[in-house]
Amino acid sequence: SSQDVQGFFRRNAFVILTVAAVIIGIILGFGLRPYKMSYREVKYFSFPGELLMRMLQMLVLPLLVSSLITGMAALDSRASGKMGVRAVVYYTTTTIIAVFIGIVMVLIIHPGKGSKDEFTKQEKIEQVSPADAFLDLIRNMFPPNLVQACTQQFKTQYGKRVVTVKVLVNDTVLSLSNGSQELKQEEVIPVLGTVNGINALGLVVFSMCFGLIIGNMKEQVLFEKYAPLGILFLIAGKIVEMDDLSEMGGQLGMYTITVIIGLLIHAVIVLPLLYFLVTRKNPFVFIAGLLQALITALGTSSSSATLPITFKCLEENNGVDKRVTRFVLPVGATINMDGTALYEALAAIFIAQVNNMDMNFGQILTIRMADRSLRPSALSALGHRRVLHIITATAASIGAAGIPQAGLVTMVIVLTSVGLPTDDITLIIAVDWFLDRLRTTTNVLGDSIGAGIVEHLSRHELCSTDPETGNSVLEE
Ligand code: ASP
Repeated sequence: SSQDVQGFFRRNAFVILTVAAVIIGIILGFGLRPYKMSYREVKYFSFPGELLMRMLQMLVLPLLVSSLITGMAALDSRASGKMGVRAVVYYTTTTIIAVFIGIVMVLIIHPGKGSKDEFTKQEKIEQVSPADAFLDLIRNMFPPNLVQACTQQFKTQYGKRVVTVKVLVNDTVLSLSNGSQELKQEEVIPVLGTVNGINALGLVVFSMCFGLIIGNMKEQVLFEKYAPLGILFLIAGKIVEMDDLSEMGGQLGMYTITVIIGLLIHAVIVLPLLYFLVTRKNPFVFIAGLLQALITALGTSSSSATLPITFKCLEENNGVDKRVTRFVLPVGATINMDGTALYEALAAIFIAQVNNMDMNFGQILTIRMADRSLRPSALSALGHRRVLHIITATAASIGAAGIPQAGLVTMVIVLTSVGLPTDDITLIIAVDWFLDRLRTTTNVLGDSIGAGIVEHLSRHELCSTDPETGNSVLEE
């Protein structure tokens, strides 16, 4: 009846608007392409999209800090330990499956044909040496100045750094907040010293306040209502400014298709199947509840920026326990990137193919390249060649921040390990903006399904924590 239809539209208004935004954005973008806007005009045009990115980024850091703290505070250490182990097992398993899918797809479809001639020269990205890339992995764990990170611009890349710091500071903060334990000075000082003590504590306090305010808002906050409009302009703007699609012929086109198929297999078959096997619930109902988050990932190319929406979808639409989401999502969004891992493994082998260095499956696992001279001597000292490709592709996905095209930068590590010229990253730049959106969506899906699976596996601990209701103790 018409009332049912009305009710349906009212309940799902936000999702419907978001889907409509994607469609209108695509139409608008292609409609405006013939007008050949200047760079400046495109920037003006996509301004509403930039605003959405900033709103989301602004929320991320406080959200990360406060959610990990409240998440851990709500669990006893035994429960959080078990939950942590489950999450790590899930992350590792799915990431390795993703890498395998990437490898298998690129070997079957074989998009690279041993010639670079047809690639138009792309502008060089800034040269990063392998040593730089490795150092950066470590460097990223320790932000120089947290307060700056927090107050200056709320840059998402700091979100990644803060998780590490948060884990370090966590015990301290918990003992502060519990009030039960004495704060041991010898314990606090070294930890805080590492992260510029006072800054860190200030940040934590600030973030907790800000995050709790945001987290507890019952009304839909402004940015959520605004999101569809922002997504519309993000997508339209990108389509207006993208390079000509004629690029997409030949090897690059086949490469794009290979990545898409790989990501689809992982997102539509592997992850849902895993969810079903563990929980015995319909995975597609679960995924339907995540639609807003998945579209936001598609629109923003950033799993960090999507985080506020991911939380909302999991908690409100799918009813996942807040103690789980707050515990699992911040870490997951930082280190668990199935889409990126799949892409790293696949792209490296594609570049090998283009360079006429063909390998079969066994050779890829053992990574013995035809031309050893390309291998930088520093890396041959690493040994462990048998699984190097899987390890490096995984490391590169863990190392990538949840920001647009971060995976392209960490490709340096993978190419180096395979002994390929890092310059060849430029071969795939032309299509990366597009593939980035798809792998980001896969990343967000992987994190969300992880939260669902961990919740299911932890249901006993969750019940025993609060036998009265079985509900989250965070829920007032
Ligand atoms: N943009 C991706 C993300 O935010 C990372 C990547 O470049 O692969 O998840």
